Amino acid sequence: MTAAQQIPAATIRHDWTRQEVLDLFALPFSDLLFIAQQVHRAHFDPNRVQVSTLCSIKTGACPEDCAYCPQSARYDTGLEREKLMRVEKVVEEARAAKASGATRFCMGAAWRSPKKKDMPYVTQMVREVKALGLETCMTLGMLSDEQAQELADAGLDYYNHNLDTSPEYYGEIITTRTYQDRLETLERVRAAGMKVCAGGIIGMGEGERDRAGLLMQLANLPEHPESVPINMLVRVAGTPLEKERDLDPFEFIRCIAVARIMMPKSHVRLSAGREQMSDEMQALAFLAGANSIFYGEKLLTTANPEANKDMQLFKRLGIQPEEYQQHADEAEVEAELEAQIAERRNDSFFYNAAK
Ligand code: SF4
Repeated sequence: MTAAQQIPAATIRHDWTRQEVLDLFALPFSDLLFIAQQVHRAHFDPNRVQVSTLCSIKTGACPEDCAYCPQSARYDTGLEREKLMRVEKVVEEARAAKASGATRFCMGAAWRSPKKKDMPYVTQMVREVKALGLETCMTLGMLSDEQAQELADAGLDYYNHNLDTSPEYYGEIITTRTYQDRLETLERVRAAGMKVCAGGIIGMGEGERDRAGLLMQLANLPEHPESVPINMLVRVAGTPLEKERDLDPFEFIRCIAVARIMMPKSHVRLSAGREQMSDEMQALAFLAGANSIFYGEKLLTTANPEANKDMQLFKRLGIQPEEYQQHADEAEVEAELEAQIAERRNDSFFYNAAK
């Protein structure tokens, strides 16, 4: 048995070496998932998944050049630009998100960093969304010390700022801000007392050493991010990565498992790219230790078929949303889900051996 296979489930470490991480990646798939499951079960209920809703509060026209991003003003992706959303509209969407079962509301703006004039609006959004009883998260780009403190004072729970990839591969993906800029924003978020959401993207042409490098950067921070989104590249026409090769789904699942082992107490989130995953791949990701999802890339309501599909998958897997608030009409929702599953059993997703 290698050192990697002897990892005690409770160990929280901040001194991972690249070789140790590569050793984890090199394990047979079943062994890797077995270790990840042990670590996961030592810290979490494996049948609970945290559910967040994402709302784009300012879309497109971003001056940065992130090669994967349709919101960059440098690429012609046909994305419609939208100005900063009104506070009342954000609150309305947050209310709908809560009604659909989300416990956290994430607000994202396509900015290099927020301007002084934007701060009163975004802090007001935080206050009002929080007053609804939702956890709040924002992603607004790089922050100064003052901006981080303003957001913390408004009551912001989480700040998202991804590292995207390894320091070595980073220059292939972004040239308009440095890796160090990103690390400094994460430090400011911590210093202001907020929780950190930081992860990266898999499938941008990086190698296993880069995936190991990204996870090392995250796990070797003085404190592990509370939330670690692992995104699968969505190849958007018009971006430099539109022709990137297909990612082997098992490579993605391996990343989830290694992230789970290295950051045992963090929520590992399935984020962008989930729409492209089959139900079976998502189930494998949960088995590997993912325990957080975005409830769709846009704000969803209970009537939205995609959100309903998520709930059907949860039900088929026996998963409960974390901190799920029981609704008065829960029995009705359950019955509806049962009926939908029974209906689908007759067609698409079960193999009929009798045929
Ligand atoms: S900073 Fe954010 S919004 Fe802007 S191009 Fe990069 S990923 Fe897209």
